[in-house]
Amino acid sequence: MQLSDRVNSIKPSPTLAVTNRAAELRAAGKNIIGLGAGEPDFDTPDHIKNAAIEALNNGFTKYTAVDGTPALKKAIIAKFKRDNGFDYEANQILVSCGGKQSFFNLSLALLNPGDEVIIPAPYWVSYPDMVLMGEGVPVIVTTTQEARFKITPAQLEAAITDKTRLLVLNSPSNPTGVAYTEAELKALGQVLAKHPDVLIATDDMYEHILFTEAPFINILNACPELYDRTIVLNGVSKAYSMTGWRIGYAAGPAKLIGAMKKIQSQSTSNPTSISQVAAQVALDEDQECVKEMVKAFKQRHDFVVEKLNAIEGVDCIPADGTFYAFPSFQQVIDRDDRFENDIDLAEFLLLEAGVALVPGSAFGAPGNMRLSFATSLDILADAIGRIKTALEN
Ligand code: PLP
Repeated sequence: MQLSDRVNSIKPSPTLAVTNRAAELRAAGKNIIGLGAGEPDFDTPDHIKNAAIEALNNGFTKYTAVDGTPALKKAIIAKFKRDNGFDYEANQILVSCGGKQSFFNLSLALLNPGDEVIIPAPYWVSYPDMVLMGEGVPVIVTTTQEARFKITPAQLEAAITDKTRLLVLNSPSNPTGVAYTEAELKALGQVLAKHPDVLIATDDMYEHILFTEAPFINILNACPELYDRTIVLNGVSKAYSMTGWRIGYAAGPAKLIGAMKKIQSQSTSNPTSISQVAAQVALDEDQECVKEMVKAFKQRHDFVVEKLNAIEGVDCIPADGTFYAFPSFQQVIDRDDRFENDIDLAEFLLLEAGVALVPGSAFGAPGNMRLSFATSLDILADAIGRIKTALEN
């Protein structure tokens, strides 16, 4: 059967594939530790679940406005003011079925065939494929571990052409965990000032999972003059351990948000009614639950980075946030002829050590591996011990 060029141009999500493969091996009786998943291991806090149960019992089970309930949009507007200092009106907010749909809507609403989107690598696996689905051209800019995986102003300048439509920034980043500083964002802003037709998408999904003393900032905090051409993407999936509830949101220029809403109105319509009530409570009520989770992630981060660096040939820079470590295994790959690349290595670690990691090439960074530390310290100790033994034998 002939399928569309569109579907043939993309690949299934590699992170979901790793999780599925680990589950298959487990079902076949193998003892597998899965460190591939991109979701917190904590339960959704009770006060959030209870709000959804109440909504369900009250019959809040019908279509809502496509762009989100007025109450949730109000909570989002208040969140932007409280956490980020940004002012938005209701027509500048779109609630979607997860942060993934927010970016998908953006791609389909903004791009024409051939429009270029600058994506610094390592990147979240889905950006390039969603750009391709919008018939755009992903322009991958490879960063280095020495530059802490951040795009430099010179790299940005060199990547911009008269076809550039969008720059994607994700800080703190999945998969590297690093966050841009204010000075770095200002320097990128100086380049963007020379290119007024380039829009910026700042994906702040990991805003709250941050270990630095400096508070979270994105490019709009550093460069408020970019307000009219910046779209802020965020959601409740990671901060409140709500990945299955599927609520993400976008804020930006009303015209663009309206176009994204039109796309959504002809695909999924509104996000789930009861999830919207849960998200509203997550944003409006006490944020203590987030702080507790971040404390656990920080402790695990410190443990993982230390233990990984104790394996010969592994080099892991400390992250600023998220629940990912992104160590380089390049020296291991170079010295050991059992594997030619990170994909071979991931397969080896899965079968020989029983540990599932996502190869860096899925994120545009071959030679590295993404390890999710959204699991207990005991399991992490077991997993890293297994990796060390398998590699050093
Ligand atoms: N943005 C980034 C950087 C992510 O890592 C993810 C999830 O992995 C998302 C967006 C999408 O999150 P969701 O669609 O689960 O809300």
